[in-house]
Amino acid sequence: QMGLGHEQGFGAPCLKCKDKCEGFELHFWRKICRNCKCGQEEHDILTSNEEDRKVGKLFEDTKYTTLIAKLKNDGIPMYKRNVMILTNPVPAKKNISINTVTYEWAPPVQNQTLARQYMQMLPKEKQPVAGSEGAQYRKKQLAKQLPAHDQDPSKCHELSPNEVKQMEQFVKKYKTEALGVGDVKLPGEVEMRATEKSNVKNGDRGASAAVGAMEDKSPDQKASQY
Ligand SMILES: [Zn+2]
Ligand SMILES: [Zn+2]
Repeated sequence: QMGLGHEQGFGAPCLKCKDKCEGFELHFWRKICRNCKCGQEEHDILTSNEEDRKVGKLFEDTKYTTLIAKLKNDGIPMYKRNVMILTNPVPAKKNISINTVTYEWAPPVQNQTLARQYMQMLPKEKQPVAGSEGAQYRKKQLAKQLPAHDQDPSKCHELSPNEVKQMEQFVKKYKTEALGVGDVKLPGEVEMRATEKSNVKNGDRGASAAVGAMEDKSPDQKASQY
């Protein structure tokens, strides 16, 4: 189901209703959410630019700083999101038109052919193709999995100076101990690594290995796409 040209903010969590709202969905003609009836402004709506800042902040002061760039004017870390544009020449009747597909995010891996393969193996409705249901799905996941108040004390409600200090320590801790970035490997490579690790000889691992193996070291094993 596609949005009607007002995808802006789709899926953003409601700050008032929290989990009770499934995510912002603009009412056709009123400026409210179809899910919870709160106003658009009650929802944590972020533009792509703001999202990249959020992920940039996540990777700041970690071993993943190659994934971010600091803006010259304000020094704010921005996620260097891998936007992948594929072009396919389509033979039309007279001239050749170019058919392009833009993935709003692709894995930040060296081998972009592999990254493309990975994207194409995702279910259609989860491929973050610009303007599609999949792009909205990605935004929604990002809003859910990385709420601003999980890493920014100023986004929390009235913390005491001591609580701010504790939170900063907590953020530091999960950045060093839990933060990970997914990798994409071919089935053969995944199998080899699995064998090295466990030395298990039985089973038909080869058949079940997936191309897109997401390595995620977060304690709750959520597969995150940053
Ligand atoms: Zn609400
Ligand atoms: Zn809502």
